[in-house]
Amino acid sequence: MNPVVTISGGGIIGNYISLRLNRNSIESVVIEKSKDKTSAKENIRTVTLNPFSKKLLDEVGIKIPYAEIKKINVFDGEGTGSIDFSSDEINEDHLSYVVYFNDLEAALKENVFKKTFFETEIKNFKENINNGKCEITLSNEKPIFSTFLAGCDGRNSNVAKLASLKPVTSDYEQTAITFTASSNLINSDTAYQIFSERGIFAIMPLPASTDKSSHTIVWSVDNLKIGTQNIESYIKENISYFEKKLKADITINSNILSFSLSNHHFENYVTGSIVLIGDAAHSIHPLAGQGINLGFADADAFCEEITNAYQNKINIDKHLVLKRYEVRRKNMNLLMLKSMDFFVNLFKSNNLYIKLIRNFGLSGINKTQFIKRFFINHASGKNKI
Ligand SMILES: Cc1cc2nc3c(=O)[nH]c(=O)nc-3n(C[C@H](O)[C@H](O)[C@H](O)COP(=O)(O)OP(=O)(O)OC[C@H]3O[C@@H](n4cnc5c(N)ncnc54)[C@H](O)[C@@H]3O)c2cc1C
Repeated sequence: MNPVVTISGGGIIGNYISLRLNRNSIESVVIEKSKDKTSAKENIRTVTLNPFSKKLLDEVGIKIPYAEIKKINVFDGEGTGSIDFSSDEINEDHLSYVVYFNDLEAALKENVFKKTFFETEIKNFKENINNGKCEITLSNEKPIFSTFLAGCDGRNSNVAKLASLKPVTSDYEQTAITFTASSNLINSDTAYQIFSERGIFAIMPLPASTDKSSHTIVWSVDNLKIGTQNIESYIKENISYFEKKLKADITINSNILSFSLSNHHFENYVTGSIVLIGDAAHSIHPLAGQGINLGFADADAFCEEITNAYQNKINIDKHLVLKRYEVRRKNMNLLMLKSMDFFVNLFKSNNLYIKLIRNFGLSGINKTQFIKRFFINHASGKNKI
């Protein structure tokens, strides 16, 4: 087997890359550790796609149900600061689209199913064995000779370990809780986010096929606040605070999922023929729903560089191709990671002066069109390096 790109990790980003390369007649295979999970899973977890990620999916023909968000209303639960974002301010139809994680994963998987080896991992890697190809040995001992190895295997990337790339990590000491709920919030095209001492609470509409009262909630809480109680009892004790702030009733109607929150990034995404992409290269706090959007922007840059190299050149400088991708993406990803950390720390603080500054800051930004547009353009994927 001699694919141009061997992809470790058949998650959303790995499968999107395989599908996009395939459309450009560039051979790839996907190596996925888990089983092919064909049984239906409960749809709980959602992701918000920005218009740029949605455009990339449209271009490769991925169609799944989504909810459209035109407005985002962010406010400080403990103070008076607030900020509203609207798609009209950047001349777009929508700010973002909410989709079920499982729907997106399944739609992509279906398209690259025949190119995927399930329940398999990469065991060994040797650089430049034969004609510029590297030798990849799978856990079932089968060899693959490939030009590039792309690590799309998430935050504990096996490929990063094989390449001896060391991540810089930081633990938020927070837990993200997510579930679906019914609510009588009237604006079905609006997402609300409340920063408070009880956590960062976001409530958004669910994809279009469900009724208008259905919502998804993503709530990050300091582990110290949860203490020794279980997550269900923390939610029961604290959800009424957010109901009051939103002037709405919220009824939980799914199981509750929880995730420990940390971030990581790498000083280098590339070494030799190996490259890290998506959550394998960086992970961030989910407060602005940007993790997968950074992954899609990475995937777009990577596919563009590979496709340009194969369409225009006879002798390909492998390292230059990968370095171009790294230069295009690394600083932008780090900027987003640091911005998320800034907001997490700003709203963690109980210091009175910091509280005053953040109230003034949120309301001040709300009145300054230039800064607001800057934020929205970044979140929507319009501003790219
Ligand atoms: C609570 C929560 C809410 C979020 N909300 C949003 C949101 O609204 N918007 C947004 O943009 N992002 C959001 N994110 C982030 C988003 O989910 C991730 O950025 C995204 O899933 C990363 O995709 P990926 O394909 O890069 O990695 P992953 O989803 O981690 O996929 C990695 C794949 O690699 C496989 N794998 C792992 N190890 C190996 C191995 N050794 N060999 C082979 N295969 C392997 C895994 O099985 C998996 O299939 C959220 C995250 C959390 C925790």
